[in-house]
Amino acid sequence: MHIAVIGAGLTGCITALGFADRGHRVTIFERASRLLSRASTANEGKIHLGYVYSADPSFHTAERLIDDALLFRPLVERWISAADFTASVCDPFVYAVPTTSALPLAAITGHFARVDARIRIRMEELGLTYLGQPAPEDFRPLPDFGVDGVSGFLTQERAVWPQGISKPLTRAIERHPRIEVSFTAEVDRVVEKGEKWRVGFTRADAKDDGPFDIVVNAAWADRRNIDRRSGHPSVGTWFTRYKFGVVLHHASQHLPNAIPQNITATSGPFGDCVYYPANDSLYASWYPVGMCFSTTTDQLEQPVFSPADAQDLMSRTWQGCASFAPALGTLAALATPPAADLVGDFIIAKGRSDIHDPESGLHQRSDHGPARLARGYWSIETGKYVSAPRCAMECVERSLAEF
Ligand SMILES: Cc1cc2nc3c(=O)[nH]c(=O)nc-3n(C[C@H](O)[C@H](O)[C@H](O)COP(=O)(O)OP(=O)(O)OC[C@H]3O[C@@H](n4cnc5c(N)ncnc54)[C@H](O)[C@@H]3O)c2cc1C
Repeated sequence: MHIAVIGAGLTGCITALGFADRGHRVTIFERASRLLSRASTANEGKIHLGYVYSADPSFHTAERLIDDALLFRPLVERWISAADFTASVCDPFVYAVPTTSALPLAAITGHFARVDARIRIRMEELGLTYLGQPAPEDFRPLPDFGVDGVSGFLTQERAVWPQGISKPLTRAIERHPRIEVSFTAEVDRVVEKGEKWRVGFTRADAKDDGPFDIVVNAAWADRRNIDRRSGHPSVGTWFTRYKFGVVLHHASQHLPNAIPQNITATSGPFGDCVYYPANDSLYASWYPVGMCFSTTTDQLEQPVFSPADAQDLMSRTWQGCASFAPALGTLAALATPPAADLVGDFIIAKGRSDIHDPESGLHQRSDHGPARLARGYWSIETGKYVSAPRCAMECVERSLAEF
């Protein structure tokens, strides 16, 4: 069969590789001029085990993310080497709980204990490890965390360096004899023609392409717009945020002997920091600064930052993160700004309000995955980076099953 995949993020790339390895010809249509250039490299790379979703009383988010996390490495490693994967894995996260947390400390530690128990059960049932790590240890308090008003807990959760995954994956796509990529191809809609599908583009002078036996929409931020224009509007209200973090380059030079542990502050609109040893870079995000656009409509505005704005946003991010990682405050105070970049993208989830609201749908992130819109037309709601490989491979298996 000939299959079209819209969008070359982690979801689209794994989908394409999955179909191609089963002997099908695949064309990827990508709006940008390179693979894996958007959310799948602009994110923090946390391979969530659900610790941060303590505000989901159903526990479904943790259950879902634990399975997604256990499957992440075995699925991705079908196309990248074990050495490349291992090199991208970061140290475990400390969870920092400030006194201003939206949930009481006891509720958070109770949630952590439930997460740890669930991880053990699912590792046993699925016969999988978490990112190839040895048998996990339960979370434990860090009495010497050393920040006033903040309790620290070491967990087993880790991040990967997203570019450490995307570079070898890009090579796998480039080398695959059955995958071709059409760059700067912005898809407008998918049109049914007989038993097959054609793909139409936004550029007026671009001719429709096809016929394709199967079309998979993995366009993330533009996914629902493409589906709507193709006659399949999504149901429910979606809350879209644009969030950025700051990547500090040559971190060990700027913070000699002072690189903080990997930390997530919870529960509420706080922040994270992650050190990527493979690249000597430090990612930091502070929610009150980094969450700079939100909407419940489908009209997305990509923020544009002037260099002066960017510098101010970086300093304010580090200053905010200093509340749980004091070393980052020293970066904000430097007279000469260190080499750093703002990296961000859209985050899309069902909901009507932001995470400040305990009732927000954003606290429940368990219903992502591939949806069959018609015979041969599939649309993948990735949910999270950690979930992309599983969503992609589920789509490959389910869509092929009906042919
Ligand atoms: C700041 C930030 C931090 C995050 N941190 C984490 C984290 O730590 N852990 C986690 O699990 N998740 C995290 N996420 C979420 C995660 O990044 C996304 O869920 C995931 O990367 C989405 O993958 P994707 O392949 O679906 O989308 P993308 O990687 O965005 O790929 C979609 C592709 O489709 C292309 N495209 C879009 N529209 C069209 C069109 N009309 N025609 C053709 N091509 C099109 C885009 O150019 C893009 O290449 C974070 C997100 C952000 C923004």
